[in-house]
Amino acid sequence: MCFDASAMASSPVSSKLSFSFSESATQFLISPREIKKCHNKKITASPSDPKLELVDYDSLPEFLKHNEFVQNYYRSEWPLKHTILSIFSIHNETLNIWTHLIGFFIFLLLTAYAASLFPVSAYNNFANAQLAASNSSNIYSYIAPITTSPEMVEVQPVPRWPFYLYLAGAMFCLLMSSGCHLLSCHSARTSYLMLRLDFAGISALIVSSFYPLVYYSFACNPFFRDLYLGSITVFGAATAVVSLMPVFDSPQFRPVRAVLFACMGASGLLPITHKMLAFGDRPEAAVTAGYEALMGVFYGMGVVVYAARVPERWLPGKFDLIGHSHQLFHVLVVAGAYTQYLAGLVYLAWREAEGC
Ligand SMILES: [Zn+2]
Repeated sequence: MCFDASAMASSPVSSKLSFSFSESATQFLISPREIKKCHNKKITASPSDPKLELVDYDSLPEFLKHNEFVQNYYRSEWPLKHTILSIFSIHNETLNIWTHLIGFFIFLLLTAYAASLFPVSAYNNFANAQLAASNSSNIYSYIAPITTSPEMVEVQPVPRWPFYLYLAGAMFCLLMSSGCHLLSCHSARTSYLMLRLDFAGISALIVSSFYPLVYYSFACNPFFRDLYLGSITVFGAATAVVSLMPVFDSPQFRPVRAVLFACMGASGLLPITHKMLAFGDRPEAAVTAGYEALMGVFYGMGVVVYAARVPERWLPGKFDLIGHSHQLFHVLVVAGAYTQYLAGLVYLAWREAEGC
């Protein structure tokens, strides 16, 4: 708090902001005792510390130059402590950090909600239990004795782990992204590390997105279930290796990376097509395919906005704090992940009601 107020007030860039802290405003926000405490601690975020200024694009080191259309309000090589504390201050990464941090907490709540909708122990109706009993290879099995009332036949619920694996993948992606945007400005080494973790998070989100789709669509066809899950997992692991190992940064590995991404995409499209061919007459298949198409639209729009760098390309410097492409990209990613969550609920309800 001491840092944020004094650092922002000291910044020549922040002085242009309408919501910047003036010295007098700071004194309304912080008690005299707290101000004294700050002074006693000799915090380095003093007005004379050039390291804590927000700077323009041209003043950045090469490793922080990603988008020349965002022109101001950059943190550059700040000390780690102040970099972490800057989560609560205004700069051009503030909304990038918070869009995915809030997304992370939304998914945490959605996980709790899903757990309440589909508890681990479940009583299925008699018809489903009969269906389960008629198929020995079924994932259901009887626990209750034969004399139990039909309404109270307890069966093993459909495995939830594919759905929760997806939720974990989404939360990992959102948290890594948020951390990457918060910490990358600290140093070239931190940026290198955080960008790779961010990339690993994106891979985790993509791969885990297909687990509910494949597992529940082909729950009764172990061959295709394992084939698809194995393929997407292998490609995901390969992509994670590519994103984490420095040797794969070299230009000669670019085609390898491109092929891996293509394979990840293809391994996702194939089971969706297969699902529609096998279960096209099922409303659940159509609804989940609709959600998956919507997910594709959100992610597709996100990639287009991200690559085109709009709207800041049209008015450079006007969207530095609010509204630049990366913030829109983040919101679209959360929207895409949410549609896949909705699809996951339909898959679970489908298998919970019908078994195979
Ligand atoms: Zn991002």
